[in-house]
Amino acid sequence: MTYPNVQLHIDGKWRASASGKTIPVLNPATEETVGTVAHAGKADLDEALAAADKGFKVWRAVAPFERAKIMRKAAEILRERADAIAPLMTMEQGKTLVESKGETLAAADIIDWFAEEGKRAYGRVIPARGPGIYQLAIKEPVGPVAAFTPWNFPINQVVRKLSAALAAGCSIIVKAPEETPASPAELIRAFVDAGVPAGVVDLVYGVPSEISEYLIPHPIIRKISFTGSTNVGKQLSALAGLHMKRATMELGGHAPVIVFDDADVDSAAKIMSAAKYRNAGQVCISPTRFLVQEGVYDRFVEQFVANAKKVTVGNGLDKDSRMGSLANPRRVNAIEEMVQDAVSKGAKVATGGSRIGNKGYFFEPTVVTDVPNNARAMSEEPFGPLALISPFQKFDDAAQEANRLPFGLASYAFTRSAKTATAIGAAIESGMVSINSFGLALPETPFGGIKDSGYGSEGGTEAMDAYFNTKFITQTGV
Ligand code: NAD
Repeated sequence: MTYPNVQLHIDGKWRASASGKTIPVLNPATEETVGTVAHAGKADLDEALAAADKGFKVWRAVAPFERAKIMRKAAEILRERADAIAPLMTMEQGKTLVESKGETLAAADIIDWFAEEGKRAYGRVIPARGPGIYQLAIKEPVGPVAAFTPWNFPINQVVRKLSAALAAGCSIIVKAPEETPASPAELIRAFVDAGVPAGVVDLVYGVPSEISEYLIPHPIIRKISFTGSTNVGKQLSALAGLHMKRATMELGGHAPVIVFDDADVDSAAKIMSAAKYRNAGQVCISPTRFLVQEGVYDRFVEQFVANAKKVTVGNGLDKDSRMGSLANPRRVNAIEEMVQDAVSKGAKVATGGSRIGNKGYFFEPTVVTDVPNNARAMSEEPFGPLALISPFQKFDDAAQEANRLPFGLASYAFTRSAKTATAIGAAIESGMVSINSFGLALPETPFGGIKDSGYGSEGGTEAMDAYFNTKFITQTGV
């Protein structure tokens, strides 16, 4: 399998950047350079902006029914190509082939769902105060979108924004991740090959801050969508605010998992360990702060650690690997530092805790117990294969700890009591709560955070609303 030199896609053409500049792409499992990605400069961005402006005028005039046909064709193309796309994603991101293929196929389902939802973008007829008056609330596409997406789910993070934008009738410039560029380019290719008109979908890479600082204030861009860290999200939403641009922000998390005494402990340990080490923990909704009630603490730790030890780590291309490498050296260093810091403050390493080998960004599936709240990992998002487990006594203690941080993205709870389930669902400050399962991130359900985890939704009908303006028209006979 050879990795490509990834190009920009502007105004219906695949091409190099105007300057010819490229950025090397590394395989995180081997640290070898596998290819390059084109580096867009201002001239390229100006072309992309002009294309998106033209594309919007064309696409908004295409009936939602016809848009849906093109989108569903793109979904089919993606499914047909999933076996070819998966190794590209694994080579650039490090995740296993099973995960890469799963992400590609899930993207096709997301496209299908939004394609259908676009047909149902109903407005309202509001009862009038007199005869012969029609009061209409109409949904119109917001306009050309600038989307900024990260490297942890190279296709998934793009497809949620792209599908909702296209279904609503918007054009979009995607600034995809430079570290993992080939698989998102294949997603865009599926849309191009399905017949999306030139200019409607444009793809650029380059220096993230240069591109965002140029696109966000630009008058052609009407809507921003960003997925990434809280720090960067705050900068970009400030810039969007300054220029009165609509924005959706999907930022960091630090998901609490509350396991009550009456839970099915073995099942909780199984479900949550699978979720923890998925994508090597580089997931914004990854379960991270495990709060386990004292009566089941030892049993939960024992089961969770046993599951963590079973996770085979290796090159994602190797069929036996259950967890691949981390995506970049930043994550390895961060996890290593967080573990050392926690231990220096009294935490115990129950399993893992170290980098594996000295080639490739591999890290052991790690469990650290009895972690004091002043350990960095208890407040900073680890974004890696690190589970932090601590005991609690009473419901209120767990709820208070769950809500201690400024994050509010995902949270999890396990209990056999309907009363406790209802109470914890109400008490937790987060955008999503999953009780007795890992049930988040379906295309048809809301997906998003509160507090420092951002605002807006990337799932369900709420995700479509993010790409619409509401226009009010009142009309009387003459
Ligand atoms: P980072 O904060 O520099 O970058 C995060 C993402 O934002 C990257 O995709 C990057 O390309 C992009 N970015 C950075 N500066 C930007 C700018 N000025 N304009 C536009 N885009 C910009 O750090 P990183 O090392 O890549 O990731 C570290 C942290 O980011 C993680 O610890 C995690 O908290 C967060 N993150 C979150 C998600 C998520 O799904 N919410 C995904 C990836 C990373």
